Order: sequence, then C-alpha cells, then structure tokens
Amino acid sequence: MHEGCSGKFQNGKQIVDKVRAMGFSNQYLPMAFSITCVDCGNTFEMSTFEDKCPQCNMVYGVTPCHAFDPDNVKAAGNNY
Ligand SMILES: [Zn+2]
Ligand SMILES: [Zn+2]
Repeated sequence: MHEGCSGKFQNGKQIVDKVRAMGFSNQYLPMAFSITCVDCGNTFEMSTFEDKCPQCNMVYGVTPCHAFDPDNVKAAGNNY
C-alpha cells in the first residue's frame, strides 16, 4: 500500500492525476479489464493503469493498489 492511499476517490480525474503522478500511466495492469464506456457504450480492453476508449477518447484510470477489480476503474473525462 502506497503512502496517502485512501482507497476512495471523489472522481476519475483524481485517480488519473494520481496514476500520472506515480508514473503508472503506461504500466500494464495485472490483468486486462473489459470496460464498457460510460460515455458511448463501446466495450474495450483496458490494459494499462491509464487508458481511454478508442471510440470517444474517454479517459479511464485505476490506481495500482486497487487494480484487482474493474469496479475501481473510473472515467476522468473525454481527452482528459
Ligand atoms: Zn492506492
Ligand atoms: Zn467511449
């Protein structure tokens, strides 16, 4: 568990900011998640801690210590 991890974030932007600050954006998840985009309904495979919907560019993030469950993946915004 890393320092300052509350386990809860108010929104996806906070998660993506955290992932970027830790340098994990391009690191691979322990296992890829199948994500249904909240914006356009497209289903895509999320393979890194920060990823985006290839159809509408909605950005998604999950912190490394919570990457065991796709329920912890949150949307940050289009082209965030
Ligand atoms: Zn954490
Ligand atoms: Zn989408």
